[in-house]
Amino acid sequence: MSVRADLHTHSNLSDGTTSPSQLVHAAAAAGLDVVALTDHDTTAGWSEASAAAAEVGIGFVPGMEISTRTPDQYGDRVPVHLLAYWFDPDDAALCAEAERARRSRAERARAMTELVAADYLITWEQVRAQVRDGATVGRPHIAGALVAAGHATDRPDAFARILRDPRYRVHHYATDTATAIALVGAAGGVPVIAHPGAGRGYTITETMLRAFVDAGLAGIEVDHRENPPPVRARLRAFAAAHDLIVTGSSDYHGTGKPNRLGEHLTDPGALDRITAAALSGRASVVRSGRDRQARHRQGEYVPAARARRDAVRHL
Ligand code: AMP
Ligand code: FE
Ligand code: FE
Ligand code: ZN
Repeated sequence: MSVRADLHTHSNLSDGTTSPSQLVHAAAAAGLDVVALTDHDTTAGWSEASAAAAEVGIGFVPGMEISTRTPDQYGDRVPVHLLAYWFDPDDAALCAEAERARRSRAERARAMTELVAADYLITWEQVRAQVRDGATVGRPHIAGALVAAGHATDRPDAFARILRDPRYRVHHYATDTATAIALVGAAGGVPVIAHPGAGRGYTITETMLRAFVDAGLAGIEVDHRENPPPVRARLRAFAAAHDLIVTGSSDYHGTGKPNRLGEHLTDPGALDRITAAALSGRASVVRSGRDRQARHRQGEYVPAARARRDAVRHL
């Protein structure tokens, strides 16, 4: 039987609605063998998820979805979500960037709430009530407050009718994408571009992807509900040409989005490559299975990275 791995999910330590432990139990119930927790800009849910995974007997991959931006051909900075797996959660540079993003997100949520409240009566307290202590704040929490106040039926409805209005748009701090890719690699992690085909009002071009490869990108999330099928085909071809790992995932957010656990999966071979890259501690230089085997034969796996991975597993 083939391993069923879902490598992109959110808990209530960012904009998901289930606790990390509930999420892992739901993952096991959905027939998954491996689940990654990839909350926005935080690793706060790792220990709870890891303990729950050990309890229910499924594999756990620690991850994070980093808010980044990259310049387009006009010099505008477009948002790019970067998934990172197995990096050192205590890496100083990565921690500093994530903390900066979280702080800025909190300020931005306050500013957006004020703008939205001018048209739809909600208070900052109502938004705060949507956010678990220590969680990364995002627009979905404002969406949740709009639902609680009766202005929308659910979070997607709040996005579709209210939050997409550019008048309410406020940007938060986000690391440059290529910089973030390099930071993840330096922290021993595996950087994967999330849902590059998601039509959220901007386009991630092949030129951008090439720059990400140069920065040390390890993989692309191809199988994701927001990547249209023709885009998936192009991404798959790009990944093959650049020897990148192809992943597939649900981007589960609990009741905050319709995405269901396991609706897209990552191939066992791709999962192996992610594990091997993490073990090597140098994801950016060990992208191909062939390289990996050669390095394995040469005994080049970095023991420190392995120890770190084991430490995470047994948090
Ligand atoms: P933020 O990171 O605060 O800018 O908010 C972006 C997040 O909002 C994404 O990660 C999604 O979880 C969520 N989101 C974006 N569009 C929608 C939508 N149409 N319905 C529900 N959630 C959405
Ligand atoms: Fe999200
Ligand atoms: Fe995302
Ligand atoms: Zn996500």
